[in-house]
Amino acid sequence: MSDSERSIFARIVSREIPATIVAETDRVIAFEDIAPKAPVHVLVVPKTEAYRNVTELAAAEPDLLAEVVAVGSRIAAERAGGDYRLIFNTGESAGQTVFHVHAHVLAGDLSEGSLA
Ligand code: 5GP
Repeated sequence: MSDSERSIFARIVSREIPATIVAETDRVIAFEDIAPKAPVHVLVVPKTEAYRNVTELAAAEPDLLAEVVAVGSRIAAERAGGDYRLIFNTGESAGQTVFHVHAHVLAGDLSEGSLA
């Protein structure tokens, strides 16, 4: 894969671009969204670049999807008492802008909507 084809999140995984990393396992990384839309807004991302969206990930590696959810729920438990919203924007018309699968974990006061 050429440099220009690599996703911004792959560059965060490889530490080429800085991010505020809040959790990491062998297969998953979680970091603060650069433009937070809620008091807690963390992105949970499989390190592999193989999947563009959650549909592809669910079909190919459901255990990795479960790990993404588990990491997200742990962050919400630590930072917001366990209540949270988990969003996978899937496809351009649904608002997806980075085509490296990621879960938005939104928590805190979500009374004003806070859709990522
Ligand atoms: P999407 O719209 O694809 O569901 O979400 C992409 C998210 O990535 C957006 O919420 C956006 O703010 C975030 N984002 C884009 N570029 C960067 C970056 O370089 N660093 C971080 N930490 N977040 C980013």
